[in-house]
Amino acid sequence: MSEKKTQTKQDTTEKIVSLCKRRGFVFQSSEIYGGLNGCYDYGPLGVELLLNIKNVWWKEMTLRENIEGLDASILMHPRVWEASGHVEHFSDPMIDCKQCKSRYRIDVLFEMLSQKNKETIYKKAVESGPPGESVNSMDDAEGMFLGNPNLFLNELICPNCGNKNTFTEARSFNLMFKTYMGPLEDSSNEVYLRPETAQGTYVNFNNVKESSRQKLPFGIAQIGKAFRNEINTKNFLFRVREFEQMEMQFFVNPREDEKWFEYWREQRINWFCKYGMKENKLKLHVHEKLAHYAKAAVDIEYQFPFGWGEIEGIHNRTDFDLKRHTEYSGKKLEYFDDQTRERFIPYVIETAAGVTRSFFAFLCNAYDEEEIAKDLDGTSSTESRTVLQFHPSLAPIKAAVFPLVNREGMQEIARNITEDLRKDLKVFYDDSGAVGRRYRRQDECGTPYCITVDSDTLNNNTVTIRDRDTMRQERIGIDRIAEYLKSML
Ligand code: ATP
Repeated sequence: MSEKKTQTKQDTTEKIVSLCKRRGFVFQSSEIYGGLNGCYDYGPLGVELLLNIKNVWWKEMTLRENIEGLDASILMHPRVWEASGHVEHFSDPMIDCKQCKSRYRIDVLFEMLSQKNKETIYKKAVESGPPGESVNSMDDAEGMFLGNPNLFLNELICPNCGNKNTFTEARSFNLMFKTYMGPLEDSSNEVYLRPETAQGTYVNFNNVKESSRQKLPFGIAQIGKAFRNEINTKNFLFRVREFEQMEMQFFVNPREDEKWFEYWREQRINWFCKYGMKENKLKLHVHEKLAHYAKAAVDIEYQFPFGWGEIEGIHNRTDFDLKRHTEYSGKKLEYFDDQTRERFIPYVIETAAGVTRSFFAFLCNAYDEEEIAKDLDGTSSTESRTVLQFHPSLAPIKAAVFPLVNREGMQEIARNITEDLRKDLKVFYDDSGAVGRRYRRQDECGTPYCITVDSDTLNNNTVTIRDRDTMRQERIGIDRIAEYLKSML
């Protein structure tokens, strides 16, 4: 990648971060105390966008006959995390540079090594590969490095400070946050902040099945906070320590798992497109190496300004979780099919999306800078505008209402329109500055429609309604505004 290109990509992320703060989408957590790494606060516009994403997901999932909702608690019995495998497996190997104190996850470190350093690793891997297992490619060498990083410590050059052989031995680091339940801080009172919402669903399988009288296949959808003590937080909202997930566990007959896996993979990618994600910015990444619980896994990746990154995973988790919870709790989590008289443990197809990462992806997807004509007839000079082209359903503010000038009763009419629309929608009233500046301010926060009360309004009760993306204006009667917006949102 050329330096110029890298610069532009970094610029875009920086511009988005700065817009987020300036316009009230996202703030660093505890900013006045210097910030808390990996945690963010959602401001007035951010919280609306976040809610809109969750709402459209919730509707998509639960306005179906065979999907129920659930909101499980964040703190759960510690045995849940033993059964799920998180106590044993949910860890990343990490390594520290003794010289500059940089801390890396092993796989991230490998990616960051210079090409020259990777070649030294490759040579070492060829020399010391176990008998019978030849190292033929850089991928083989990487596999060997990830499996046994300590073998290569002498060769490693720190990507941050450039020193050689300065790394500690690799250590395993569990990503779950621990806390204590009750007043005594001893190990018998340890509980975890959940690292995913899915386990809350599995342990409630019987409760939901019986209370809702659902028959297979059926799903349980849940939106909620998750916490991971990530070694490296990076790329703004992409990898954080406190985030939200929107996950759905779909329980199926094991004979039908592949069919439903395909079905949900398609449904989920379509959902992102339906809400405006550019198709060329999305791709599927099929996992070759699978997690201990999975039979198949595919990620939906978005092309962020810093590169491709997972926004949602679709997993065939087989009967792993229900089986393990049966084993650990002693309570049977199974299904009886009264048609075929079969009793079995269902398989689970999981759709696991991050609200936080989707938020960031929708933001990047919407961000644009354009050169536009200053005058409506397009004849004179141009100016640049920053615009967030959100799908109207996701836009934090649905419409802005302006009086063209603050006289002849225009303010009063604009206020009345605003109040009327506010019965159903988030609407912004603005009477300060030139109308062009007001449009620009709304473009920058993604408001799809601007309604202007002008002198014609005084004669015929019509207003102009301007479309954010085309910037075209049309005139409609005041009595038709609500209906017009409803049809567009
Ligand atoms: P990654 O490999 O990027 O750490 P993962 O495969 O561990 O992600 P899952 O356990 O499948 O992720 O979680 C489902 C979704 O939760 C992810 O697709 C992502 O959108 C979101 N997610 C996971 N970890 C984080 C995080 N640290 N910050 C923000 N979102 C996250």
